[in-house]
Amino acid sequence: MKTYGYGHQSIDEADIQSVVDVLRGDYLTCGPSVKAFEQAICAYTGAKYCVAVANATAGLHIAALAAGLGPGDEAITSPITFLSSANCIVFTGARPVFADIDPETANIDPAEIERRLSPQTKAIIPVHFAGQSCDMARISAIAKASNLIVIEDAAHAIGSDYLETKVGSCRYSDMTVFSFHPVKTITTGEGGAVTTNDPELYAKLCALRAHGVHKDGEMAHTWEYEMRELGFNYRITDIQCALGFSQLKKLDAFKARRRAIVAYYNEHLGLPHLVERDFSNACFHLYPVLVANRREFYFKAKEAGLNLQVHYIPVHTQPYYRGTFGYKPGDYPKAEAYYEKCISLPLYPSLTDEDVAEIVSRLKGIIP
Ligand SMILES: *Cc1c(COP(=O)(O)O)cnc(C)c1O
Repeated sequence: MKTYGYGHQSIDEADIQSVVDVLRGDYLTCGPSVKAFEQAICAYTGAKYCVAVANATAGLHIAALAAGLGPGDEAITSPITFLSSANCIVFTGARPVFADIDPETANIDPAEIERRLSPQTKAIIPVHFAGQSCDMARISAIAKASNLIVIEDAAHAIGSDYLETKVGSCRYSDMTVFSFHPVKTITTGEGGAVTTNDPELYAKLCALRAHGVHKDGEMAHTWEYEMRELGFNYRITDIQCALGFSQLKKLDAFKARRRAIVAYYNEHLGLPHLVERDFSNACFHLYPVLVANRREFYFKAKEAGLNLQVHYIPVHTQPYYRGTFGYKPGDYPKAEAYYEKCISLPLYPSLTDEDVAEIVSRLKGIIP
């Protein structure tokens, strides 16, 4: 029996050739393929600047530092997300605060963000869950009114649109972070990128990616460099960026295929699913549905050759967050209710029409 996971990368011969070309060349890191990939992301999203990094967690970390987050500050994110969206706040010494979701989209609810604002709030980190854009105009208005930085966690959302903009354009935010992990829409193996339109944030992000080192003015012509802050080695290689550059060319085709599969599931499965808002045109990363007896459904699907996944265990219920910050089950009831029933079905561009029909027929056999 053919088995299906919830996500899989799509790599073709052009991708492979592009990596091989770099391996035969002079630069494995800090070379022209990194620059070319960054420029291609700028061209695609409409952002002025892009800093490609080792992974999105690294990107979120340096974005949080560039935003000036530190001890005594708070930043607000969604409980329905991968750990990194909140961990990046903790890395800086700031306090992670969650705002409950809109149950129809599972995205952070702007009204809940407003409820959680305090004099310590310094940043908002909305997560474009499953690829659907958050309500960025409202989030940006909340941020402007209280002088907050907005960092979009767009790990799910490269290729997605918000109104007339691409996610990553930073029209409604200060920085946007993408992930290129193999389960995400385009991949570099491991990898990520931060986009911004602000030259000062761009300079900070570049320095934080490489040990906090600056090499400007006269130093550009000598051996000299200056470490002006504490940074990291969060660089990505040319090998990875060559793959990313090649993958990016296929993003619009991936998006069309992902949306076609989502439309098919919506029509044929009859399970409660996300309701996309009019302002969003998602390059869907995930297809979560809600099922009554999720644990039983998960194991029955496994027996039927479907290796599904749950996105996500609400971050505030993790032992670390409970122990360190005093969060407890019940703090974010809409996120917790969503988590009780959600499960993500297979969604990736290489699924054929036959595959999708087969998956639906197997699922029909186990839907209670
Ligand atoms: C995958 C993911 C990340 C982390 O991405 P990495 O590239 O694996 O570090 C961050 N946020 C969200 C919402 C994600 O899904």
